[in-house]
Amino acid sequence: MRKTSLLFFFFLFVTQPQAQEFFSEKRILKLMGCRFEITAIAIDKPTAIKAVDAGITEISRIEDLISEWLPSSQVSIINDQAGIAPVKADKELFDLTFRSKKVSELTNGAFDISFASMAKIWHFDRSEQELPDSATVKKAAMHINWKNILLDAKEQTVFLKETGMKIGFGAIGKGYAANRAKSVMKLIPGVTGGLVNASGDLIAWGQSNHKDGWSIQIADPKDKNKTLGWIRLNDLSIVTSGDYEKYFTSKGIRYAHIINPKTGYPITTIKSATIICPDAELSDALATSVCVLGVEKGLELVNRLNGVECLIVDANDNIFTSEKLQLNYYK
Ligand code: ADP
Ligand code: MG
Repeated sequence: MRKTSLLFFFFLFVTQPQAQEFFSEKRILKLMGCRFEITAIAIDKPTAIKAVDAGITEISRIEDLISEWLPSSQVSIINDQAGIAPVKADKELFDLTFRSKKVSELTNGAFDISFASMAKIWHFDRSEQELPDSATVKKAAMHINWKNILLDAKEQTVFLKETGMKIGFGAIGKGYAANRAKSVMKLIPGVTGGLVNASGDLIAWGQSNHKDGWSIQIADPKDKNKTLGWIRLNDLSIVTSGDYEKYFTSKGIRYAHIINPKTGYPITTIKSATIICPDAELSDALATSVCVLGVEKGLELVNRLNGVECLIVDANDNIFTSEKLQLNYYK
């Protein structure tokens, strides 16, 4: 475990033109309720444009599939039928639910898509709030249990065993969408590289518009003009979860929009967890998990996983990194 005194991290993306000729298209838009930045590098401009369009179409399709807010989505129907009946799901949603349960298993329940039974209790609108009474929290938290998300592979159904249960893909959906966008963009002949950045959940591959490849500058948000270091991102994803965007405060304590499934309370001891690995879905799910697990258990998990690295900032601005993280510090 390495501990430094550097302050909180934030990610900026560098773009500098390359000498060799290439064409790029970059678009910034709101999808899945957040800011997406999609870049394609290609042999000509029309191909780059086509690739970005394909990425956007794919992300919108996934948004319709997994949104908890659209009453017609399969996720909403599964939630409405909690404790009543199994719901037939598209293979894609069934598989995503299956993989979500695998992450729950891997993280000993720190990651749990059935956290969503708490959704109405907490309001992460950045305001100062009174905490709800503990009995209310406890009652809603009783419904969190990934083992009660019952999957029937033969019938391809999802059944939430108890009335009051709900699922939500907020901690894995953006990563999945980024992976899928990359896949459809890569399939287009003439596309040589790209980047999908879902508000800091980011995957980059192939040719870049930066002379040294895709790289992420790491800045100190206390002084956004200062850069602390950088990471080369060749065919990797980097995902940060934490309390910097969605949170509330109560009596001077900041509560992030990540729920500890064991207690039903939002986390307060980790500012951010950043995961780096080839798969954006896994990075997304693990970044949330590490926030719940905390420094010691989080690092222990990441150090056990091949090809997965992480960087954690705790509530006191201490920075911890996994054993093999190659962070290039500025002197
Ligand atoms: P961000 O959306 O800021 O990138 P995350 O990937 O950590 O951050 O996602 C946070 C969201 O995940 C929450 O808004 C909520 O929808 C969901 N969530 C909260 N706690 C958990 C948990 N313990 N397991 C799975 N999903 C969670
Ligand atoms: Mg996540």
